[in-house]
Amino acid sequence: MTIQKLDLLYQGKAKAVYATTDPEQLWISYKDQATALNGKRKEAIDGKGALNLHISQRLFQVLAEAAIPTHYVRTLDATSMLCQRAAMLPLEVVVRNFASGHFVSKFHVAPMQALEPAIHELYYKDDALDDPFINDDQVLTLKITDARTLTHMRQLSDRVNAVLRAYFENIAITLVDFKLEFGYLSDGTLVVADELSPDNMRLVDAATGDSLDKDVFRQETGDLVAIYREVAKRLDQIV
Ligand code: 5GP
Repeated sequence: MTIQKLDLLYQGKAKAVYATTDPEQLWISYKDQATALNGKRKEAIDGKGALNLHISQRLFQVLAEAAIPTHYVRTLDATSMLCQRAAMLPLEVVVRNFASGHFVSKFHVAPMQALEPAIHELYYKDDALDDPFINDDQVLTLKITDARTLTHMRQLSDRVNAVLRAYFENIAITLVDFKLEFGYLSDGTLVVADELSPDNMRLVDAATGDSLDKDVFRQETGDLVAIYREVAKRLDQIV
């Protein structure tokens, strides 16, 4: 049965999510739009949606090959993927291998200081509150999720980190940090959802230290499309 796109369910900053003719599956379209400062700065960028789709699908496939469950099903067109419908947890998990971004501004440590073991942080997804930091106790007492799920998310995040770090090393890219989101499928499987692209991970060229992610847009230091294209090109080399 060919899948068809139905009603728009959710319009995000970088993606639009549609229902499909299969109630268990969603049509997710990546938009030609970049935002920073939690949406306060917004710009249309031709070609960004296709690059994010391309990079995300590759990284979801890499996780699947490592038996890490994700919501990705298959690619539909140049900017859209079919995903399993998941009940999303309102949490962002940030994993940090090296100090950067808010970790540097918060603790005044040297940029790119190695963080061993990798640091896990949780943020409560709520635009009106600006996605505040939240700890395990707060998650449990506010009944955002249970202890078993927190442990499972942590284990999956560690596995994602190990797999993606090694994968990027093969193409001379250092995985500095990244953000994951999780959801439950209807059969109770906890999966990595949302997207896996330079919009939600910091990548640097292992040889030059140059930024290969959305920081070039956030800090207005480079051409986002040219840089995302370079990441996509290197990923394609090891398909
Ligand atoms: P930081 O906390 O240093 O700003 O971000 C840490 C990592 O998580 C970066 O790779 C960043 O891209 C990602 N990240 C944190 N919060 C968000 C968010 O709200 N949206 C996206 N796309 N990525 C985020």
